[in-house]
Amino acid sequence: MSELKIKPCPVCGWKPIIEHWSSGGIMYMVKCNNPDCPVPVNSYPTGRNLNDVEDEWNKRSDNDKL
Ligand SMILES: [Zn+2]
Repeated sequence: MSELKIKPCPVCGWKPIIEHWSSGGIMYMVKCNNPDCPVPVNSYPTGRNLNDVEDEWNKRSDNDKL
């Protein structure tokens, strides 16, 4: 894997992690690694293309400043 350019969580500032699993094909999700982070799990970006998922996370990081 190459170095990922994912922004820190906009809520807590923790570095996010990438999970992947198989669901009729591989699925990726970028999620905050902080167990106490108030961001709801269903708001994490998911998709089949890792680059798209990372882009979506980064856009949220820009847009979701609290
Ligand atoms: Zn967080």
